[in-house]
Amino acid sequence: MTAKVIDGKVFAATVRAQVQAHVAKLKADHGIQPGLAVVLVGEDPASQVYVRNKHASTIEVGMASFEHRLPEDTSEADLLALVNSLNGDPKVHAILVQLPLPAHLNSELIINTIDPAKDVDGFHISNVGLLGTGQKSMVPCTPLGCLMMLRDHHGSLAGLNAVVVGRSNIVGKPMAQLLLGDSCTVTIAHSRTKDLAAVCRGADILVAAVGRPEMITGDYVKPGATVIDVGINRIERDGKNKLVGDVHYESAAKVVGAITPVPGGVGPMTIACLLANALTACCRANGLPEPK
Ligand code: NDP
Repeated sequence: MTAKVIDGKVFAATVRAQVQAHVAKLKADHGIQPGLAVVLVGEDPASQVYVRNKHASTIEVGMASFEHRLPEDTSEADLLALVNSLNGDPKVHAILVQLPLPAHLNSELIINTIDPAKDVDGFHISNVGLLGTGQKSMVPCTPLGCLMMLRDHHGSLAGLNAVVVGRSNIVGKPMAQLLLGDSCTVTIAHSRTKDLAAVCRGADILVAAVGRPEMITGDYVKPGATVIDVGINRIERDGKNKLVGDVHYESAAKVVGAITPVPGGVGPMTIACLLANALTACCRANGLPEPK
């Protein structure tokens, strides 16, 4: 059996083009330009790359990009003051504080200071509560991208057995909520789960968000299942740096029906969903219809 490769790059390009068209229409019809502010504290190399990519993609779709790069030793008071000024800035419709923050800063406090309507990552406690109770919210970008790919591949997800490996607040838990919202029967697995391979083999949909390179092998998957690999792990192989997922692609692809590659799967969709969320925030702020 040859698995279908779910191409996140192609899908993300389509989403970005839709956002770009909507942004152009907002400008032409209403003179409004959506604005996304990204705050980066410190020098974390992976975060620097993400922020650079986010900036370039924001400009590309015609939105205003406001970048705030602060030194590693920024005080909590200064960061809170910046977030509050962005909350009050009418040109800024969406705010993202790049995680992880340096250890001396209280991430929860910072995130919960963002205006929930501008919380484009969907991590504010109000948005978490809204999502959990099935109300309109800002939906975290990575799980949203996964859901879009799954809906596109399956049509309806109702009644499918979904297993999410990982229970983080930014991926695992919101992913499980979204799948439940689409009427999957959801299991959340984690480091204390007994016989993880057997749990995973019960999945029609398997989402891996573990952060362990190639942990989910072909023995963990059910024939014909759909596998979404959220993991981004940098490893060294044959003397070269390589990006691999949480799924062992070669062995899993021999068994499953469809699978996302790493790179080129979930990653590109995350940025596309960030732009889509920023556009949604702008439309809501201006009382205009939201993009579909
Ligand atoms: P976290 O480290 O916050 O969470 C990892 C989860 O995996 C935890 O719930 C942990 O369980 C669980 N876990 C760890 N080891 C095992 C194990 N041996 N068996 C079963 N479960 C295990 O990671 P994130 O959720 O932030 O990220 C997960 C992965 O996704 C990372 O590779 C990250 O780089 C990637 N990522 C990719 C994004 C993208 O855009 N593609 C965006 C965000 C993240 P426990 O809670 O019990 O400790």
